[in-house]
Formats: sequence, C-alpha cells, structure tokens
Amino acid sequence: MKSKSPTDRNLLNFSGGPGALADCVLRQVQASLESVPGVGLSILGISHRSKWFIDLVADTEERIRSLLNLSNDYHVLFLQGGATQQFSTVAMAFNQNSRHPAQYLDTGYWSGKSIEGATFEAQPKIRVAWSGKSSHYSRLPTPADLELDKDAPYFHYVSNETVEGLQFKEIMGLDCVPRICDMSSDFLSKPIAADRFSLIYAHAQKNLGPAGVTIVVIKDDMLKQIKPGLPPFLDYRTHINAHSNFNTPPVFAIYVVNLITQWLMHEVGGLQSMNEINEEKAKCLYDQIDYSDNFYQSSVSAEDRSCMNVAFRLPTQALEQAFLTQAESLGFSGLGGHRSVGGVRASLYNGVTLNAVRELTEFMSDFRANV
Ligand SMILES: *Cc1c(COP(=O)(O)O)cnc(C)c1O
Repeated sequence: MKSKSPTDRNLLNFSGGPGALADCVLRQVQASLESVPGVGLSILGISHRSKWFIDLVADTEERIRSLLNLSNDYHVLFLQGGATQQFSTVAMAFNQNSRHPAQYLDTGYWSGKSIEGATFEAQPKIRVAWSGKSSHYSRLPTPADLELDKDAPYFHYVSNETVEGLQFKEIMGLDCVPRICDMSSDFLSKPIAADRFSLIYAHAQKNLGPAGVTIVVIKDDMLKQIKPGLPPFLDYRTHINAHSNFNTPPVFAIYVVNLITQWLMHEVGGLQSMNEINEEKAKCLYDQIDYSDNFYQSSVSAEDRSCMNVAFRLPTQALEQAFLTQAESLGFSGLGGHRSVGGVRASLYNGVTLNAVRELTEFMSDFRANV
C-alpha cells in the first residue's frame, strides 16, 4: 500500500471526534467558505439575524424532527458549551431535592464526567444506580441490574460510551421517571424511540458536523420542572423563546449540521438505512478482531459492543505503537485510543464509509500476517 494524498486521508479518518464527515458535504462546505448558494456571501460572514439564517435554523430543526419522528410536544435547540455544559445544565435545571436524588448510570468515561458535572456545591445529591467500575467498564447493565427510584426527578445515562466502545441496545430507565440521555456519540446514527425520552443532548462533532453546536431535544412538560432563579443563558426556556438565536449562535456549525441532515435524508435514505450501513461497518471490523486468534483483543462484552467506537488492543504496547505508526504512514488517521485508556480505537461514525472500514481490516490482516 502506498501513502495517501490529503483528500484520501479524509476518507480514512477514524477519529473519535471531531470525526469524519461525508465527502460530498465537505465539498459543499468548502464552496460555502467563498459563497453560500443563493446568498453570495461566505458562510463565515453571514449575520445570525439575517432571514437566511433564521430560515436555516427552522429548516434544520424540521429535518431533525422528521428524521426522529418527533411529535409537537418536543423543542429542538441548538446550543453552545458542548455536552460538558449539558452535564451541569441538566442538574441545575432538574435536580430539585435530595430526598429523591437524580439517578445516574456510571458506565464509562463520559458517564463519569456527566456525574462530575452534575455534582457541585449547593446542588442536591445524585445517586449512582449502577457502576461498571468494578468490571473495568467492560459491560453495561441490563434493566434487571438496576434498582431505580420511581420518585427521582430524573434518570440520566449515556447511550454510547465513546472511549470504552460500549453501546446500549435497549432503552434504560423507568417510563414514569423523566429519562435524560447524552447521545453525543450515536445521535442520528440509527432510529430511536425519541418519545420515550424527556431530554436528549448531543454535540455535533461525532456524527453531525463540526464542534461548536450541541443539539438538545426537550419535551415541553419538562419546562415547568425547571428550578427558578437560573441565569437566563442556562435556562432552556430562554433559548426556546429566542428560537436558538438568543446571542450569536455558531452559524457555521449549524450550517454544516443542516447539510448533514440533508445528506442523511436524501443520500443515505434516513436513519434506518444509516443504521444498516453502520451495523455492517461494525460487523466487518469486529469479525476481523474475532477471527484474529486473539491478536486483536476487544475487552468489552460481545452483547454491549458499540457500532460507533471499536476499541481494541494488541498483544504488547510495542506492537500497538508499531500498528499505529504504520497505519498513519498508510494514510489512516485517528486510530489511537482515548488518552485515558490507550490502545487502538476506530470510530465508525456516519461519515466513515464501508470501503474505509474494509481498507482498515485489510491493513489489520496484513499487519498481523507480517509481524
Ligand atoms: C465526546 C463526548 C462528550 C464531550 O463533549 P464536549 O462537546 O467536548 O463537551 C460527552 N459525551 C459523550 C458521550 C462524548 O462522546
């Protein structure tokens, strides 16, 4: 294999995030830096108060509603601060009293961060309903593992643990307790029963666009639960009333999310098709791992494996280093594991093609044959 030109390198980007985006969208983005069709201005210089941008926000919201089959009792917001800001915003808004603490699942790196972000002075306590710490975050709980308080103000979990490569295959929690979910790394990668969630948040930089915008889907009946006295910027109602245009929103990031939702609808053919492609990509890579005579090792339980992030190890750190160096020289990128765990991780977000995954598995097979 020879090394790749810069364009090819985009096609072999397995980064954990910001991640790969569809090639045709990248080309539209490139053209928009000079001039957005129909506007004649660079995307970087269009006012957020222009009619074009107000329409763009409304159109992007409509597309997300349509992709998720959202009913009218949900609001769709485009916010800043990333998923990390939501860790605290959710707790500030809805964790009301300590007699019935909010319930959290601790299933990996990002749910750990969600718990840290929800725990601060003057905040009622939270309760960890299940922790995967003792099993080194190698598996997820089943509903039977959880003992949940039906009077809790809410139940929070992370649908896909990006670092460890664990993904829930079913919805967790009780239907009588507001269900809040961080879907940052699998939002719009497959269909979901959105109507079973009271609040979903997901930043754009894994599956939907560049960093800078976070999508929040919030059910209307949650608004009356919001604790009074929050600063306006941290109160979801402020952004609902302002149609996500309270202060200067990330115009560029929202534009790219709009292009991605168009691509999902028209090129991919909706979330069911996206899911089929994502499952095929994941199967291709897990098969390569499973049939490698333990050369490549995945430490997560088979039923909890993520379709989005495939984390694996090689027999020694030296081999992992050689693998990563050689992969990089052949044009693959973003394959290093998260800095907290090391190893190798291939992220298979929506923008990564099946062909790219096949190239990766060919490389894995060659690498193993040649050591
Ligand atoms: C990447 C990631 C985050 C971090 O999001 P920021 O936008 O950097 O705050 C949070 N949650 C999950 C599940 C992630 O994958």
